[in-house]
Amino acid sequence: MFSKILIANRGEIACRVIKTCRRLGIKTVAVYSDADKNALHVEMADEAVHIGPPPSAQSYLLIDRIVDACKKTGAQAVHPGYGFLSEKREFQEALAKAGIAFIGPDAHAIQAMGDKIESKKLAKEAGVSTVPGYLGVIETDTDAVAIARDIGYPVMIKASAGGGGKGMRVAWNDEEAREGYQSAKNEARSSFADDRVFVEKYIQQPRHIEIQVLADGQGTALYLGERECSIQRRHQKVIEEAPSPFLDAATRKAMGEQAVALANAVQYKSAGTVEFIVDAERNFYFLEMNTRLQVEHPVTELITGLDLVEQMIRVAAGEKLAIKQDDVKLNGWALEARVYAEDPFRNFLPSTGRLTHYQPPAEDSSVRVDTGVYEGGEISMFYDPMIAKLCTWAPTRDEAIARMREALDQYYIRGVSHNIPFLASLMASQRFVDGRLTTNFIAEEYPNGFHAADLPPEDPAILISVAAVIHRCLNDRDILISGKMPGNKTHVRSDWVVVLDGTQHPVHVDPEAGDAAVSYGVDIAGAHHAVRSDWKIGQPLFRGTVNGAHVCVQVDRVGVGYRLFHSGAQANVKVLTPKAAALDALMPEKLPPDMSKFLLSPMPGLLVSLAVSEGQDVKAGEVLAVVEAMKMENILRAAQDGTVSKLHATPGSSLAVDQKIIEFA
Ligand code: ADP
Ligand code: ADP
Ligand code: MG
Repeated sequence: MFSKILIANRGEIACRVIKTCRRLGIKTVAVYSDADKNALHVEMADEAVHIGPPPSAQSYLLIDRIVDACKKTGAQAVHPGYGFLSEKREFQEALAKAGIAFIGPDAHAIQAMGDKIESKKLAKEAGVSTVPGYLGVIETDTDAVAIARDIGYPVMIKASAGGGGKGMRVAWNDEEAREGYQSAKNEARSSFADDRVFVEKYIQQPRHIEIQVLADGQGTALYLGERECSIQRRHQKVIEEAPSPFLDAATRKAMGEQAVALANAVQYKSAGTVEFIVDAERNFYFLEMNTRLQVEHPVTELITGLDLVEQMIRVAAGEKLAIKQDDVKLNGWALEARVYAEDPFRNFLPSTGRLTHYQPPAEDSSVRVDTGVYEGGEISMFYDPMIAKLCTWAPTRDEAIARMREALDQYYIRGVSHNIPFLASLMASQRFVDGRLTTNFIAEEYPNGFHAADLPPEDPAILISVAAVIHRCLNDRDILISGKMPGNKTHVRSDWVVVLDGTQHPVHVDPEAGDAAVSYGVDIAGAHHAVRSDWKIGQPLFRGTVNGAHVCVQVDRVGVGYRLFHSGAQANVKVLTPKAAALDALMPEKLPPDMSKFLLSPMPGLLVSLAVSEGQDVKAGEVLAVVEAMKMENILRAAQDGTVSKLHATPGSSLAVDQKIIEFA
């Protein structure tokens, strides 16, 4: 067994690998860029080696730097995580040359599976069912159209070197095939420096179901059940689960056996994933094989009880697998939600900055949090904006969903935008609960993007009673403050008015008998609500029960009021005395300023160019400016005709979100 392993990655996956190494008594080496010098993976590892500036092309993707770091620290093996160098044959080869073990498959398997055209050919030979299509490189758009017609519309045009959902287009007719061919080719060239594209049948209303395989390269290859990853946004996974609510035992076995046949065909060793697309009749077709640990591997670990990283390390160290196919038992249900630093209400724009507050739900036998950040740390613009993977396990799917809802309520993140409201909405969707999933789920359920109206409906009584109790607790504490100026003494008060998002609700709050530290009864419009909690003043989470039902409400104090978060929704609340409430109703409302005369930056980024000057007339649709963010150029156009009166930013300046760029007359 190895005594020291280097992890050629960052973020949650580096931390996750370190955890297993620690348990196995193996020393760890982290690598880090300038942007990550204070990152969690650096702190968790026994040693850390600096490998370059923030851009991954100058740090995490430099094979020589990583090999040097191994030599310097005496690491005997490298775990590549996912992304970065994990599927680069050259990396495996460079390590082999230096006498360092790669914790993953051999170069020939990475090579064979790294290319979608080649891997499909191989899969076909190994008797694996593949998506009908044309297994060759397409040279011209005319050929693309001819082949698409041959296969029959709709078709999918895909980059052979593609990954991460990039370089694919759906075409329903000749025109789209022509266009899709060009744009897939362009995207493939710029993203993968390889513009080969191919065409296959577009499977309609499909599910994405993948098989986890594990092989030791010494005669044993197993399948560890499936994961369903149909909940995707732009071909990228958002929610994953194991098992799939769609598979029966026979289909599971057939898919598992084909996945193992493919693994054997390339003498696979280590953990790998064979992805399939499954149609409504449970026909399944091979998509691609990922020759690495997959992002969503925890759900498989939760239902099999295996530690996949441990298995990968053992196999890389030359051990044989200690289990057989019959030993693999699937137990219960697991879900994973990818928590991202992005703003779901602003078309999922990535968000960067400091995590001013960060408190994930506590881990226990039913909650697992894989994270690479900590309170006070930063989400940088250089890498994947993932904050964490939140997983729940329970004996049944319904219970796992319920646990996920609770865990999302308990996830307290401030300082950057995050997608928890969107995840909460998905978990509350009846279609999700029913398991009626397809890869079009998000596009169909949120056709116009995600809005506050998509949040699960709330019972206002919960928020009103929690707000009333919180305020009453503060009031009860205030009366204990001695030495107050005459006339400023606080009195115990039972009658309050809760102003919830502008609507007044008179309430009556009084302590009542109960075993919890906080036990109050709240009367709202004649209905009694019993609130119980162990909440203490200052805690951001109010966890307890309202009429016996569990609630977890996040509480921020904002000015004289509160902002409450529950089930992904937020509400502004004030708790006032009846007299203050009467006066509050008369207060003029401060309206947000009219910004319609400004072009605002829709995202944090760099102002690349301005296409207009002061005094210039512009027509609706005309290009005004180009803003670069997350390596993408965004063209900002005029929403209506007008005249530019003032430029507020100059090209080359960095922009905050909503910063003024141009003012119109
Ligand atoms: P990547 O390497 O980017 O992960 P995949 O081939 O695994 O590419 O495809 C990613 C996603 O795109 C799939 O999960 C599925 O949602 C969709 N997809 C890919 N191929 C097809 C197809 N032939 N028909 C329908 N959807 C597809
Ligand atoms: P998966 O099926 O696991 O989502 P894909 O084959 O679709 O994987 O995409 C490649 C994987 O590598 C993704 O999971 C993505 O999160 C990860 N990845 C892609 N680019 C990066 C990067 N720059 N840094 C870290 N991880 C990345
Ligand atoms: Mg894929």
